[in-house]
Parts: sequence; C-alpha cells; structure tokens
Amino acid sequence: MSEVLAAKARSTRVFPAAQASSVATPPSRSLCTDCGVSRTANPERCATACQFIRPDYPTAERRVHGRERNTSQVDELYFGVHHGLHSARMRKPRRGAQWTGITTRLAERLLETQQVDAVLTVAADTNDRWRPRPVVVTDPAELANCRGMRMGYAPLLSLLEPALDAGHQHLAVIAIPCQVYALRALETELKAAGRLASLRVIGIPCSDNTSTENFHLFLSQLTRHPETVSYLEFRTDYHVEMRFDDGGQKLIPFLKLPLSELPEDFFPTTCKTCVDYVNSLADVTVGYMGGDGQQWVIVRNQQGQQMLDLLADEVEIAEPISRGKRRSSVTGFIENTRLAAGGLPLRRMPDWLRPVMAWLMPRVGPRGLEFARARVEMKAAECVLHLRRLHPRRMRHMIPNYLWRQLDDYDIAPAKGEQSEGPGGVDHLKGQPADV
Ligand SMILES: Cc1cc2nc3c(=O)[nH]c(=O)nc-3n(C[C@H](O)[C@H](O)[C@H](O)COP(=O)(O)OP(=O)(O)OC[C@H]3O[C@@H](n4cnc5c(N)ncnc54)[C@H](O)[C@@H]3O)c2cc1C
Ligand code: SF4
Ligand code: SF4
Repeated sequence: MSEVLAAKARSTRVFPAAQASSVATPPSRSLCTDCGVSRTANPERCATACQFIRPDYPTAERRVHGRERNTSQVDELYFGVHHGLHSARMRKPRRGAQWTGITTRLAERLLETQQVDAVLTVAADTNDRWRPRPVVVTDPAELANCRGMRMGYAPLLSLLEPALDAGHQHLAVIAIPCQVYALRALETELKAAGRLASLRVIGIPCSDNTSTENFHLFLSQLTRHPETVSYLEFRTDYHVEMRFDDGGQKLIPFLKLPLSELPEDFFPTTCKTCVDYVNSLADVTVGYMGGDGQQWVIVRNQQGQQMLDLLADEVEIAEPISRGKRRSSVTGFIENTRLAAGGLPLRRMPDWLRPVMAWLMPRVGPRGLEFARARVEMKAAECVLHLRRLHPRRMRHMIPNYLWRQLDDYDIAPAKGEQSEGPGGVDHLKGQPADV
C-alpha cells in the first residue's frame, strides 16, 4: 500500500451505513438477509450474488480456493476446503470479545501492517447494543468497538462501493456466510473493473440468527432485566451463558431454555434454510463450534494462513479434540424438525427427565469436531425439511450436492426433482426458472 493511501487510511475513521449507502432501498424478497446488495446502485446484482437464489458454491470454491471441497474426505465434506483446522485462543483475551477476540485481532493486524486500507465489519448501534451497524474502519484501535456478537442483519455490503470510492482499494471484510457469498460474487466484477485491488475475508460461522427485535423478546424470557444483559453465547457445553452489566453471570442448560414459548417465525426461513454454516468462502473462518470451549479456526487458503501468521505468538494453537457419537442426537433433532416443519407438536422430554439430561449432555454428548459435525448435519437437515415444505421448487437451485452427502447416514434422501443434475449442485442453464 502506498504512503499516500496509508496516510489517508489513518486519517479516515468510521463512517456509518446510513451516510455511506446512497441507495437505501429496503429488500423486497422473502428470502433475503439484507446483506446490502439490494441497497446499492445495481440491486439487480442480487440475481447472481445471492445465496438464496441460484448459488454456485463449487464454482465459487474453485475461484476463491483454487479447488472444490473434497467430499470424500470427511472433514472437507462438513467444513469445506481447508488445510488447517485448529482449536485456538488469544493468550491475552480481548476485552469485549465474543470469545477471545481472534477475529477482530486479525483485522487489527492487517491494518497495523498496512496490508489493507480499511476493514468492513459491524459495530453496535448507538441506541441498541444488540443491533449490528455496518462500519468502515481504518484505525486499528476502532476495532475494539466492533468486538462481540450482535443479533440481526446488517446491510454490510452497501458500504463496499463507498469504501472503494473513498480510495480504500485494499480491503478486509469480517462477515457472516450469507454476506460472504454475495461479497465473493461482487469481488470478480470489482477486480475486473480495477476498483478493488485486494480482498481478505475473515469469516465467522453463523446459525440461528434472527431479527434484533426477536432477540430482545428472547432476552426478556430469560431474565427479568433484559436491558442489563451484556453478553450471550450458546456454548459447546450445552449451556447458554449470559453476562450482565454488574459483572454477574448466568448459565442456563439448553434443555431449560423457553424455546417452546417463542413464536413459530422466531427464526426466519432464511436462517432455517441456510446452506453454509461454516462460511466456506472465507479465507479463514473463526468460530467456536469445534473448539470444545476454545475458539475454532479453519484456515482455508494461503491468504488465510498469512493472516493467522500475523498473530504469531499472540495466539495459542492446538489440535482440536473429537469425542462422542453424534448420530442419536442428530436423529432426534431430525425427527423433531420434521414434526415442526409439518406444523405438528414437538416430542417433548418429560419435565422430570430434563435436569438429568441437562447434567448428562455435557458429559456424554458429542464434543469438539464431533459436536461441529453434529451441528452441520442438523443445519443441513433443517434446510432440506423447511425448503421442502415452504419452497420446494427452490430446492434444486439452492441446495449444493455436498449438503445431501452430509445427510447420507439419515433417512432424508432427495426426492425426484429436489436435487440438481448439474455438477456439484447447480442447474443454471436448464429446467424451470427458480421461484424468485
Ligand atoms: C448471529 C451469529 C450467530 C453465530 N453462530 C455461531 C455458531 O453457531 N457457531 C460458531 O462457531 N460461531 C458462531 N458465531 C460466531 C461467534 O459468535 C464469534 O463471532 C466467533 O467465534 C468469533 O469470536 P471472536 O472472539 O474471535 O470475535 P470478536 O473479536 O469479538 O469479533 C466478532 C466479530 O463479529 C462481527 N459480528 C458481530 N455480530 C455480527 C452480525 N450480526 N453480523 C455480522 N457480523 C457480526 C463483529 O463485528 C466482529 O467483527 C455466530 C455469530 C453471529 C453474529
Ligand atoms: S443478495 Fe443480499 S440483498 Fe440481495 S436478495 Fe440476497 S441477501 Fe438480499
Ligand atoms: S444463518 Fe445463514 S442466512 Fe442466517 S444470518 Fe447466518 S449466514 Fe445469514
């Protein structure tokens, strides 16, 4: 990066989405997470950039990583293209981070070493700490304000072109999978036009997102003082952890969550039918699912490895563990999802058994990579069952073939017309138009 650009980068700070996105048209499609493309000057790009219309993961994997995932290798089938799978933690966890702060620290290092001019990510809305607000960050110190998880959708990509227009040609983006799919689709066009010189993508896994309003409702069912909750996470030891402004902490076993009291549409169809839990098009994915209490890092390509190397000794890396058997929990989950997708009452555990199971699950349930495989299979099954009921005509366009392979061990095979005939799960050029 040139000295001039570096100076410009230092002098620019954060600019809010409302100011930067010139076309603020709200999304009009039913399957849309408002990633930001529909708010740009060319909203028609949604047709080719959207994970919910006609995604083509195999081609995108080849473009980004140089090859498709090897579906005969079990961890590539579940976690996508990678050459490194680690459990990891920052030796000095960052204040305000969701876990230890690897994600935002990677972006800080990219700015500090002037490998990028700016980072696109989200911060908390000034009036609501749980609402994500897209920001362009050029000062590494500002990334401290972006740490932590927010629930809801943020039109992150509406800032892409304003950031380029401001002269930030070397970008890093921290994003959830549906944003990354669209970003990778725009990358080619922006590079070809000479507007984007380089792009680094730090992905976080994502599941069960919902609107910020719904999340507030959920908090109000967990505590009498929802406004004092400062942190919430679904931990891999089968507990939800809540932290409060006064420093207090509360752990609630999953089985004791008031999920049955949530409205049926609490989780939007987009998130129930999302095919890319692990953010397979990022250069590096930083989550916690396979980390068994630590963070979980999937290095997908050379660029991802170079980013991780920037942390050097700041990060402690280990082999992830894998214990237990996932099959019975996934089978139970599929049965219940089938009932829910058919509008039938769920099979509920008797009240007397709940405390026993809540005690047992962290001890006998799948752990580490086995836990992550279980969650990927559950998400895959959920996608199939909900699309089958709500948008059957979209199935062959939206579901990549590897997702069916993830479900090989369960009674959930594709019915006629549900699976794409194209290689890898795309059927762009023939057949009926997608129901968009
Ligand atoms: C809705 C949601 C669901 C998730 N579900 C899972 C899961 O099931 N399994 C798993 O392993 N990980 C999940 N994650 C990721 C996880 O919460 C952590 O973000 C991740 O482990 C990184 O931790 P960290 O300490 O390195 O992050 P930090 O350094 O604290 O950085 C977190 C980054 O996430 C960004 N971010 C926060 N909220 C949003 C949002 N709503 N949209 C876009 N970006 C956001 C922040 O801007 C920041 O850049 C989820 C994240 C979100 C937002
Ligand atoms: S590309 Fe983004 S904005 Fe467009 S329909 Fe898809 S999620 Fe919505
Ligand atoms: S679950 Fe999927 S669709 Fe929903 S917000 Fe996360 S990445 Fe987007």
